[in-house]
Amino acid sequence: SQAYLTAMEAGRKLNAYVLETPDKALEMAKASDARIAKGEVGPLEGIPLGVKDLFCTKGTRTTACSNILGNFVPTYESTVTSNLWRDGAVMLGKLNNDEFAMGSSNETSCFPGAVNPWRRNGDTAPLVPGGSSGGSSTAVASYLCAGATATDTGGSIRQPAAFTGTVGIKPTYGRVSRWGVVAFASSLDQAGPIARTVMDTAMLLRSFAGPDAKDTTCVDLPVPDYTKAVGKSVKGMTIGIPKEYRVEGMPPEIEKLWMDGAAVLKEAGANIVEISLPHTKYALPAYYIVAPAEASSNLARYDGVRYGLRVPGENIADLYEKTRAKGFGKEVKRRIMIGTYVLSAGYYDAYYVKAQKLRTLIKQDFEQAYASGVDAILTPSTPSSAFGFGEKGTADPVEMYLLDVFTVTVNMAGLPGIAVPAGLDPQGLPIGLQLIGRAFDEETLFSVASVIE
Ligand code: GLN
Repeated sequence: SQAYLTAMEAGRKLNAYVLETPDKALEMAKASDARIAKGEVGPLEGIPLGVKDLFCTKGTRTTACSNILGNFVPTYESTVTSNLWRDGAVMLGKLNNDEFAMGSSNETSCFPGAVNPWRRNGDTAPLVPGGSSGGSSTAVASYLCAGATATDTGGSIRQPAAFTGTVGIKPTYGRVSRWGVVAFASSLDQAGPIARTVMDTAMLLRSFAGPDAKDTTCVDLPVPDYTKAVGKSVKGMTIGIPKEYRVEGMPPEIEKLWMDGAAVLKEAGANIVEISLPHTKYALPAYYIVAPAEASSNLARYDGVRYGLRVPGENIADLYEKTRAKGFGKEVKRRIMIGTYVLSAGYYDAYYVKAQKLRTLIKQDFEQAYASGVDAILTPSTPSSAFGFGEKGTADPVEMYLLDVFTVTVNMAGLPGIAVPAGLDPQGLPIGLQLIGRAFDEETLFSVASVIE
């Protein structure tokens, strides 16, 4: 832990941490040493982790990187972080993210955005680490923690992992408790780890997962020992390549790494088959209706009365307005406006109901593929590698939304997805491949990903 704390000081210019907790880290590390001395060694004993600032940590400021929660100190600990500390892990601090996890570049954080440690060949211009879990991906890729917690509503674990050459898994919806995680879109949100290897993510997920009476959407299923799946043979498995993911404008180098990944799996004994997921093209527009709709409802609780920031007003309505005007950033306000619009009486059927119907069709596409014998689906994680600050989405936010084209389908269907580094593009930047699995079959993903890694 001390070595990581020293590295964190040196790595401050990367803005990975929004709060360092060295006293807590050393106290936890000492307690861990004492347990080791007694022969009580937990599965994550002494492992120093960073925590995305979306997870409530008891007594430690939790902001979701929003000014509206600028001074919020939770009186409770999220189930995920409780599980990690139960298993012996040590908390180094809280990690940067897009405000309320809305974004793909870490540029919507109320703090200065985290900076990707990677650079284009022969260029020193800083690049974004992806988002929303950009602090997690930066910290893991820069050795500022051994692993990190992250959350994924539409790609926020997998896309930052792909942009930084790290591994990230979004578990099946319901595999991990959402209790104590600041909500974005509750039917899509799922927590998972980002780490440097497939084995590390398997170890971490084993501690993240498990039933929780405090989250009724969290299923009561036993948690397999995911580490046993890592390195297991993929011989005889069937891997689907969905033709709809060959989207227009995808750089040829990404398509090449995708096909190289398929060739590696074939060599390892897997059958590669082309499949069709015909409703793929509706996933992104449907996601950008469902996610803002749920967000607008979840964010209603930040009213200046219950949590965080309060700007005084002449009466209660004025207090709400002034607090929300000052506390929320631009992207969050945009989502609230989209969300309330699609939920409004006049447009509910035209947008929200239609998006929910599309969600069912997207889910059925996957069900059909798995029913035909496919064990996992291989796609690129993102349609591009990391880009510069201000390079995307400044003039038109949709440009940023388009980056989520390969990841949102997985959240809409509630399935597990892992991003694993697949190589470098001609600019020298990491590219990730994504594997999508059957519901509650994270094990197959760990096995297949460890062949590609
Ligand atoms: N980039 C997507 C969005 O902005 C996904 C974010 C996430 O998964 N939290 O909604």
